[in-house]
Amino acid sequence: MQKHFGFILIALALAGLLVSCSSSQSAGQRGGKNSFKAGTYSATANGHNGPLTVETTFDDTRILDVKIVKQIESPGVQQVINVVPQAIVAQQSLTVDTVTGATFCGRAVIAAVTDSVKEAGGDLGLLTRKLPKAAAKAQSFEADVIVIGAGGAGLAAAVSAHQNGASVIVVEKLGIAGGSSIFSDGALNAADPEGEAGINMMPANKTTVQMLLDKKPYDAFEADLQKTVSGQFAAHNASGKTGLFDSPEWHMLQTYNGGDYEGIPDLIRVLGSNALDNYKWMTELGVNWRPTLGSATGSLWQRSHYGAADFPNGTHSVYPYRTYIDKQGNAEIHFNTQARELITKNGRVTGVKAVRDGAAITYTAKKGVVMATGGFGANVAMRQKYNILWDDLGDSIGTSNHRLAAQGDGIVMGEAVGAQLEDMGLIQLHPSGEPNTGIMNLHPGTAGLNRIFVNSEGNRFVAEDARRDDMIKAIYKQPGSFMWVIADIARYNPTEPPISIEVAMGKAVQADSIEELAQKINVNPANLKKAFDVYNAGIDGVPDPLGLRTYGKKMGNPPFYAAKRLPTVHHTMGGLLIDPEARVQGKDNKPIPGFYAAGEVTGGIHGANRLGGNALADCSVFGRIAGRSAAQSK
Ligand code: ADP
Repeated sequence: MQKHFGFILIALALAGLLVSCSSSQSAGQRGGKNSFKAGTYSATANGHNGPLTVETTFDDTRILDVKIVKQIESPGVQQVINVVPQAIVAQQSLTVDTVTGATFCGRAVIAAVTDSVKEAGGDLGLLTRKLPKAAAKAQSFEADVIVIGAGGAGLAAAVSAHQNGASVIVVEKLGIAGGSSIFSDGALNAADPEGEAGINMMPANKTTVQMLLDKKPYDAFEADLQKTVSGQFAAHNASGKTGLFDSPEWHMLQTYNGGDYEGIPDLIRVLGSNALDNYKWMTELGVNWRPTLGSATGSLWQRSHYGAADFPNGTHSVYPYRTYIDKQGNAEIHFNTQARELITKNGRVTGVKAVRDGAAITYTAKKGVVMATGGFGANVAMRQKYNILWDDLGDSIGTSNHRLAAQGDGIVMGEAVGAQLEDMGLIQLHPSGEPNTGIMNLHPGTAGLNRIFVNSEGNRFVAEDARRDDMIKAIYKQPGSFMWVIADIARYNPTEPPISIEVAMGKAVQADSIEELAQKINVNPANLKKAFDVYNAGIDGVPDPLGLRTYGKKMGNPPFYAAKRLPTVHHTMGGLLIDPEARVQGKDNKPIPGFYAAGEVTGGIHGANRLGGNALADCSVFGRIAGRSAAQSK
């Protein structure tokens, strides 16, 4: 549809570095002059998350401007959203490269502009001719610290290495920063008595603490934690404080117990005792946080910090670090560069061999290499090879991870230089997977409060605050191995995103009564009504038959929402074994000199079941340590 905005020449920004020019010649240079019916045209195409509307402005011979006017791409993609529009204008071409890691969005822009070119009567042939690419050249770089992977852990490591006096290069295989971290729901756990003071401690919370304190300790580490927490808990109760109890040791105790004692005590201690300080470090780097603490799915306690509106999803674990790096003369990120192999000399890791646009790029690390390539949740062959927890992790199950990122590259590179692997068989599934894709969708989803889960008969079947693995096991026992997550006005403002978008896209069902909802999702209305009643009785103090202990508001008021959710591969808890200084351990249990690691590529922290919200805390805590250790050649 044409819109007549006049023929104002809009200043054109040149495409960013992220787009490598597949064509540096304009249509004119190629010998043909295009001809358009001048004006501004609007067209819509499907991006990754849904429709994306683009306005394209032409004069008689050129594309003057390409503007995305409406889109719902995820916060992780926003960092590169204008790259393809700018490249189309700069190159007067529709054969521009999309950004690796955000290809759906780029393709949608190209499709929409293509429609507008047709409508404006332009010659598509002149805009889509393929031109030969200039061959990329081999290059070499040197820095004190080379970090592989620009996700939450790698960027934290880069900032920390720089703050400890090192020059840094981050090598990233995608064209965007943030890996799977930026697409997460953004929960970062840190015991924070100040934040927890405003949350009411309910009798059921007290029972949770007491139960773990009263149990027979698994080992000396647990006994030690129980002793410390007992004292802290008694003091909290005696003080008359009404806020939610928490402490680093309570966080550690839940992490160790929640991971079935497979986690390594020394690493858990580092995580728990540094989480709050790291949260403050991130705040200093520019993160704004929501004032109220939440609880990620399976976090087992309300200690999850979320970014404020200007830091949605996992952006708080990416953008402030990038801002820091971008300001430094001796710290940089090399995008579209895939690390392939570690270079060693006399048993020490001294560099990285990588590839960009088919050309060899060699990095020399004067002080150390930090591996931060994330997990292998999207690598089906690898998860099938190692998985010991689940019947099958083949193609039939999706992943919540960034598919191109989470391929386990760092584990393969680490193994090749003799790194010891830990807990490789322990793979976490998340219960908020969207049907077909496995993308994690939390609207409505499992995190937070004010939602119930029912099966295909409308019956609740698991405590909504259970461990993630318990939720998954329970889902697999239900008919069809899926569940409906049900929410209502207690959770969502019906007129606002995110729920208004989910409903508009047909991803969530909306209804004005429990009966109507039951009818729309084909469950028994009496069962669904009972599910609400039992949940509400829990708020009045009636023990929940399924053991739910964390409550928000009463539910049962319209509008109601439902969405189908099923298990999706989420976090690979195994990986390179590190010590508390984030040094990668060799098979002889000694650190491999010059080699450090952090984040999901490592193994040994989370055990058999990671608490929701502990991954971003892990990235920050161990990323910061790895960067410092590398800068100091520890
Ligand atoms: P973490 O949460 O541990 O930081 P993420 O998935 O967020 O993990 O980030 C890992 C990053 O590493 C991703 O951006 C991914 O694209 C990048 N990466 C993975 N393998 C390689 C590789 N071989 N070379 C360069 N970057 C890589």
